[in-house]
Amino acid sequence: MHTNITSYIFVLMKLTEYFVPTLKEEPADSVIPSHKLMVRAGMIRQLTAGVYSYLPLGLKVFKKIENIVREEMNAIGGNEFYLPALSPNELWHQTGRLEDYGDDIFRIKNRELVLAPTHEEVFTSIAKPNLISYKDLPKIWYQIQTKFRNEARPRGGVLRGRQFTMKDAYSFDATWEGLDESYNKNDKAYRNIFTRSGLKFFVVSAFSGAMGGSKSEEFMVETEAGEDNVALSEDNSYASNVEVAVSYCETVARKNSNLSLEEFHTPDIKTIDELAGFLGITDKSRLAKSRVFVIPGKEEKDNKYVEVLVCGDDEVNETKLHNIFSGIRAAHPDELSEITGADAGSIGPVGVEGKLKVIADLRLKEADELISGANKNDYHVKNIDLKRDVPGIEYFDIRTVKEGELTLDKNSKLRITKAIEVGHIFKLGTKYAEALGAKYLDKEGKEQVIIMGSYGIGIERIAAAYIEQNYDKDGIIWSGEISPFHVQLICVNTKLENVKQKADSIYNDFIKLGIEVLYDDRGDISPGFKFKDADLLGMPLHVIVSEKNLKNDEVEVKIRRTGERMKIPLAEINSKIPELLKNIN
Ligand code: ATP
Ligand code: MG
Repeated sequence: MHTNITSYIFVLMKLTEYFVPTLKEEPADSVIPSHKLMVRAGMIRQLTAGVYSYLPLGLKVFKKIENIVREEMNAIGGNEFYLPALSPNELWHQTGRLEDYGDDIFRIKNRELVLAPTHEEVFTSIAKPNLISYKDLPKIWYQIQTKFRNEARPRGGVLRGRQFTMKDAYSFDATWEGLDESYNKNDKAYRNIFTRSGLKFFVVSAFSGAMGGSKSEEFMVETEAGEDNVALSEDNSYASNVEVAVSYCETVARKNSNLSLEEFHTPDIKTIDELAGFLGITDKSRLAKSRVFVIPGKEEKDNKYVEVLVCGDDEVNETKLHNIFSGIRAAHPDELSEITGADAGSIGPVGVEGKLKVIADLRLKEADELISGANKNDYHVKNIDLKRDVPGIEYFDIRTVKEGELTLDKNSKLRITKAIEVGHIFKLGTKYAEALGAKYLDKEGKEQVIIMGSYGIGIERIAAAYIEQNYDKDGIIWSGEISPFHVQLICVNTKLENVKQKADSIYNDFIKLGIEVLYDDRGDISPGFKFKDADLLGMPLHVIVSEKNLKNDEVEVKIRRTGERMKIPLAEINSKIPELLKNIN
């Protein structure tokens, strides 16, 4: 247990004075456990879609998380800032992000301002006139501050809000090696933060998307409520977002039979499954699925077209495709027929040279005896030999991995599961410094662009993710440092003078011992209701003071996570409770 809790966090509370409006009913629009429980436990209330008020108990948890984040960021030499949420449009124009963000950014209508969704631009604008020599570098700057994002589908309570608190950090370095070092420091801080927050997490390498830059890793928490699909190896040696995951896959064997191409009629056959059924075959690996994509040029006439082949039992992974051909998009149906002469169900790789570049997944490397569309509606071709019949074909890893496949080293199997991102670390490189002209003078007096990293953590999302991993049918199960209180003290018979007095004195003892205690001293509430509330709120230990127990000079203690109950003699409370807390946390 950490003892250096700030006085802000260390509030002592009696339920007669503390506003914790618990609810029996689940909120109508809630679908995920953490959302239901945070509302029912009186931690948050929705104001409007994706926007929440933090009530005292919720705020206490968020502040504890902030405190952990602050300690760990300070430990790697981070400097804490606090930047405004209002930010001039002009700044966002300069990096092109006003346009990139589109509808996802909140714009202030009567001023040329946005509500910042992140702070690369503002931090860089501070770096620009201040970090001017190699001697000013490196720096790690951070803040814990409110972000605004016009999320299309805010959901899951504070898991995905339109207003939320982020710890965002930015590193400024003179060299790429320096960036590696800053990145590794943040990586270490993140591992400490999530461990101290009680999360079971893993790290995946991630595609860096619209942010630009090179290396990027996401800290993920496995939960049904997650929106990302991730591939995890059973031996925990591999974790990756499915968008970029790789696996070991046998290639489709080359038969070298040199059979000639043969067109055949396939009336009304549109899908691979229909084709397999029509041909009466179960192994779809030789049914090459063809899709057409467009790499848009400056004008339509400059567009380039790519036909992408994968095995019939595979799916094209569009993120992988983007990583090879940036800006690529699927062709529209009319573009498709114009270029290939056929509709989606009948396109194929033969005879398209000059019009389309053909690429195939590595599984199809130099495969033969393939079947694919004939670029003529309702016709397919068999005996396609990619080596013989598709000049200029290139091979890339462009398929999506599947559950049960082997890892690349063949040592373990992949499983696919859902997860939510709680943190993101990112080697930005020079994108923002370049756009905003943030430069420094190196040792030789030469001007160089500052090299940046950016590092984000969602504060409320940590709390929600923790609850997703720690609850049961009765409520939340807190433990460790982010637990709002260590103990819930329950006075069962408040009307009885001696019971109330004893409970009061235990409360005061706990305070002296530095135990954070939530004291249910409410008079007009039945014992059953108090126990239900205590389970819902989920403090790690419940200490129950009742007339019955006091007759035996003892109290009852319940461990919330296991439900285990025990009696502790009154004389031993002050030694036993701290010991129990140490053991269960
Ligand atoms: P997501 O893919 O979930 O939208 P993101 O990639 O947009 O996340 P970043 O821009 O990297 O997230 O933000 C850093 C961190 O801020 C995330 O790891 C997450 O913990 C948190 N975060 C992002 N968006 C939200 C949101 N709408 N509500 C709550 N927390 C958020
Ligand atoms: Mg997002």
